[in-house]
Amino acid sequence: DKPVIGFLGLGHMGLPMAINLHRAGYKLKGFDVVPAAVQAAQEAGIETVDTQEDAAVDVDVVLTMFPSGKHVLEAYEKHLLQSAKPNTLFLECSTIDVAQARQAAELAVAAGHRSADAPVSGGVVGAEAGSLTFMLGAQDEDLAEITALLEHMGKRIVHCGGYGAGQAAKVCNNMLLGISMIGAAEAFVLGERLGLEHQALYDVISSASGQCWAVTTNCPVPGPVPTSPANREYQPGFAAALMAKDLGLATSALEHTTTDAQLGALAASLYRKFSDEGNAGTDFSGIINAIREGTL
Ligand code: NAD
Repeated sequence: DKPVIGFLGLGHMGLPMAINLHRAGYKLKGFDVVPAAVQAAQEAGIETVDTQEDAAVDVDVVLTMFPSGKHVLEAYEKHLLQSAKPNTLFLECSTIDVAQARQAAELAVAAGHRSADAPVSGGVVGAEAGSLTFMLGAQDEDLAEITALLEHMGKRIVHCGGYGAGQAAKVCNNMLLGISMIGAAEAFVLGERLGLEHQALYDVISSASGQCWAVTTNCPVPGPVPTSPANREYQPGFAAALMAKDLGLATSALEHTTTDAQLGALAASLYRKFSDEGNAGTDFSGIINAIREGTL
């Protein structure tokens, strides 16, 4: 028999992920604190329950997809851990602080449960298509069970280590992405001022040592990569607010580990400013406009 899943957090990411599990034949107990999210799940044919506690009662897996770590810790401590039967697998898929992820795992284990962190990349498009990448922090003995579930929502699952390792990998990747997008944007603006056509610079970078995802997939100037958000006035894609959030988590991890990563810290403050100054919903590659205008 397939495991029964308590699925909490039916937002932009959670709902399409829940729909994919539902389509794969899993019984879900869906819950969100926002009634409209619950209604959208019901309209998709997903069974919902009335309280957070109900979503944890008599299920095999409690899957959470919340905005941040404080939501996760609060839900675990106040509602979920004491409602679940012993040995329930707490599968935390939100993007949260590494330290909070480890704390959540400790709380779950202390309450007699199992825990894993499985943050995702791939965005809403990947959630809908079931093509997410999961970065997994889990115990070896739980891997088979977790993989069987995640493969209905994603196409790549990378086991990164024990508790918190999934969040750690995600924060490192996104810190590099934030830095490399700013670098790509600076290179294109400098190129413009040196009289280079975007396509010419793209042709060089994409086959030379500056090559990176920020250039070859999410190119910050329109033209060279037709599918990049720059071609649709920087509609996301990956919104600047989400990049700012993830870089905030990177900053926290840098402080926690006393790591002197100056570019990561700078990228965090630049994206925070860019997002706060009216660009929260702009694709993160739109930062090139602020660089060009000198307003950062
Ligand atoms: P969202 O705000 O759309 O959804 C979060 C949902 O959680 C909301 O519907 C909210 O009402 C609900 N919620 C909060 N507390 C709850 C509780 N105690 N019980 C039940 N529901 C609760 O956010 P999202 O875009 O779906 O992102 C979810 C997570 O995934 C975030 O951590 C985000 O950083 C991460 N993420 C998002 C993207 C993306 O492109 N949107 C990509 C990768 C990772």
